Amino acid sequence: MNHLWPVFHDPAYQPSLPERLSFHWQANLRMLRSPRDMVLFTLISFAPLALLFGFMTLFPGLYTATSTGGATPTIDMAPLMFTTVVTFMIFLVLQHLAFVLAMNLTYTHHVRAELRARGVPVCPRCANLLPPHTPEAACPECGGAGSSATMRDSDRTASIDDPAAHDSEDPSR
Ligand SMILES: [Zn+2]
Repeated sequence: MNHLWPVFHDPAYQPSLPERLSFHWQANLRMLRSPRDMVLFTLISFAPLALLFGFMTLFPGLYTATSTGGATPTIDMAPLMFTTVVTFMIFLVLQHLAFVLAMNLTYTHHVRAELRARGVPVCPRCANLLPPHTPEAACPECGGAGSSATMRDSDRTASIDDPAAHDSEDPSR
């Protein structure tokens, strides 16, 4: 599992842009039908924002401008600017990591299931392209079975074998 960028499928599989949009669209619809994935995705995606608000509430002093006092007080904005920029940078990094984690846990398996439904033999675990004529053999990359035999989540197995997913005709085109 790549923690910096979600891997949807083997880089050796190079679909055209319309194909890409089409299977991602279908994978999105699959994900929308999975309440577990929607809840998990939302929770992970909003975690950094909750963390940000919690931190700013715990340390309000970091985010207020300091006044110099004296006869003609001027407000020194520099520390405030610094902490704001640093906080924002850390937030962006955390937000990206949370997004990749959320995608890996809740979305990539829908992409792989959709690709398998379309006859693209990708490993459901690591997305490596499997030999086209022996898709049930163990994956040479991760050792996982090509079929869903080793998958623990029964709902993932169900989504891979979902007969409704086989009507891959896109009505919007
Ligand atoms: Zn694999």
